Amino acid sequence: MMNFNFFIPTKIIFGKGRIGELSENIPSGYNNILLVTGKKSAKLNGALEKIKFLLKDKNITVFDEVEENPSFDILEKGREIAKKNKVEFIIGVGGGSPMDAAKGIAVLTNNEGSMRDYMKGKKPVNKILPIVCIPTTSGTGSEVTPFAVFTDPENEDKGGYANPDIFPVFSIIDPELTYTMPRNVIINTGIDAFTHALEGYFSTKASILNDYLAVHSIKIIAGNIIDAAEKDNLAMDRISYASMVAGIVIANAGTLLLHAAGYPLTVYHKIPHGLANAILLPEFIRFLKRKEVLVEKIEIVENIFESMGGIEKFLNEIGIKTKLSAYDIKREEIKNFVEKTIHKKNLLITPVKINEKDLYDFYEETF
Ligand code: NAP
Ligand code: FE
Repeated sequence: MMNFNFFIPTKIIFGKGRIGELSENIPSGYNNILLVTGKKSAKLNGALEKIKFLLKDKNITVFDEVEENPSFDILEKGREIAKKNKVEFIIGVGGGSPMDAAKGIAVLTNNEGSMRDYMKGKKPVNKILPIVCIPTTSGTGSEVTPFAVFTDPENEDKGGYANPDIFPVFSIIDPELTYTMPRNVIINTGIDAFTHALEGYFSTKASILNDYLAVHSIKIIAGNIIDAAEKDNLAMDRISYASMVAGIVIANAGTLLLHAAGYPLTVYHKIPHGLANAILLPEFIRFLKRKEVLVEKIEIVENIFESMGGIEKFLNEIGIKTKLSAYDIKREEIKNFVEKTIHKKNLLITPVKINEKDLYDFYEETF
C-alpha cells in the first residue's frame, strides 16, 4: 500500500442547533473578536444576531461587507478594521466567501504586504490570528481546509492561498443555518462539494483513506441533492455533512484542472463558483477518459449516477446547462481562459500532463 499523509487539525462540531456551543469552545483569553460575514444572509437567517448574543461578554466587531468571490480589496478593509479594534480572534460566518475572507484577514492583521504577495510565496512572519468558521452554505468545505480563494480584480484572476496555519481551530457546522438558502444556491454549492470529492478522488495526492471519504461524500450528494433543492431538511443536513467531508478530501488532496478552469468563468462572467465547476464537469470526465487514466475510479463514479442516466443528464435535470454557449460565453474568449489557467498549481496534481492545446480543447469541447 502506498504511503500517505492525512491531516485535519480542525475540531469539528457538527449538528443542528450546535451554534449554541460557540462561546464555550473559544479558548479563554480572547476578548476582541472580529465577525466576518456577507452583506445579507447572516442577518436574514438570524445567524448574526444569535452569534452576537452568544458572545455578549466579548468585544465584538462586525465586518459585514464581504462580497461573493472576495477580492484583495476587501481583505485590506478587513485588516484595517481588525487592527483598529485590536482584534485577537476571527470568526467567519457565511458561505465560502466570508469564511475565506476571515482567513485572509487573519493572515494580514499582523503581517505587512498584500495577499497577492502571500499567494506568490511570501511567508507570514508574525502570528496568524486563530480562525473559527461557521458555514451557512453547504459547498466549499472551507470550514475544514487550509485554503482561501481570492479574486485579483487588477489582473482579472482568481486563485487559492494555502497555508496549514489557516485551518480553523474549530468549526461549527449547524445545518439549520443553511435552511434559508434558495434553490440555486443549494444546487450550486452542493455541486461544488461534489466536485471537491471527485477531484480529490482523482488527485495525484489521493490516498486509500481519502478515497473512502471521497466516495462516501459523492454517494451522499448524489442521493440527496434533488431533495435538498426541494428544501427537505434531512437531505439538507446530509449535504451539509457531505460538503464538510468533501472539504476534508480537498484539504488532503487538493482540487484539480476542473476548479482551475472554472475560475475564469466566475471572473469574466460572474458565474457562481459551484455552477462554473458544474458546467465543465462532464467534459472533465470525458477529458480523463480520452487520456485513459483512472479508468476504474471513473467507472466507480459513473456507476453511482447510472440510475440517473449519467452525470451530465443528472446535472441537466437539476437545471444546469452544461454548455458554455448557454452562458453567453464566446469561443474568442478561450485563448484568454487558457492563458489564465495553464500556470495554476491545480494542474500539477491532475493525473495527466496538460498542455495548452489540451486546455484549449477542454473549453472548446464544452461549447
Ligand atoms: P458565497 O459566495 O459565500 O455565497 C453565495 C451567495 O449565497 C451569497 O449571495 C450569500 O449571501 C448567499 N448565502 C450564503 N448563505 C446563505 C443562506 N444560509 N441563506 C441564503 N443565502 C445564503 O458562496 P459559496 O459557494 O459558499 O462560496 C464561494 C467561494 O468559496 C468562492 O470564492 C470559492 O472560490 C470559494 N471556495 C473556497 C474553498 C476553500 O477551501 N476555502 C473551496 C471551494 C470554494 P450574502 O453574501 O449576503 O451572505
Ligand atoms: Fe470549490
